[in-house]
Amino acid sequence: MMKHCSVCGSALEMRFLPDEGKDIPYCPQCNEYRFEMFNVAVCVAIFTPKHDKVMMMRQYGRDKYNFLGGYVNKGENAEEALVREMNEEMGMKPLSYTPMFSMYYVPSNTLMLAFYAEVAEEDLSGKKTDEVDDAKWFTYAEAQEVVIKGAVAERLLDEIGRQGLIEVI
Ligand SMILES: [Zn+2]
Repeated sequence: MMKHCSVCGSALEMRFLPDEGKDIPYCPQCNEYRFEMFNVAVCVAIFTPKHDKVMMMRQYGRDKYNFLGGYVNKGENAEEALVREMNEEMGMKPLSYTPMFSMYYVPSNTLMLAFYAEVAEEDLSGKKTDEVDDAKWFTYAEAQEVVIKGAVAERLLDEIGRQGLIEVI
């Protein structure tokens, strides 16, 4: 819950906003409502052209695997963030990308925008950057074993299986 105005720093009060049908933080100094802020991030299931395996990575010393992703910068659209993050983290350039779903993730106050993308080649050697501990291709069954549970990664993996985007052996 925000306590102070992000523009002038005055203490906010709760005021009813009829359009929203509820109380919203209001700055009496600026005479404006101050809606709660949240983060926006992209995450992407990356496939080879055959769609038999999906790429996942380990980061920040964790032992479970996650999909490639990152925060959307101010002034950037989600597609630009996706292309930038794929290049920054793995030196990859997508052949194509498709939006799948969005999910608000409470622990990091982040609206996650999930995509899938295709890349031309399977070779991951020498591509990962310092931000990545390890990146590998997984079959659907293997990915289910190693995926981080209870967050957007697990939902994204479920979706790609349900939509038949990966060969399920
Ligand atoms: Zn203010």
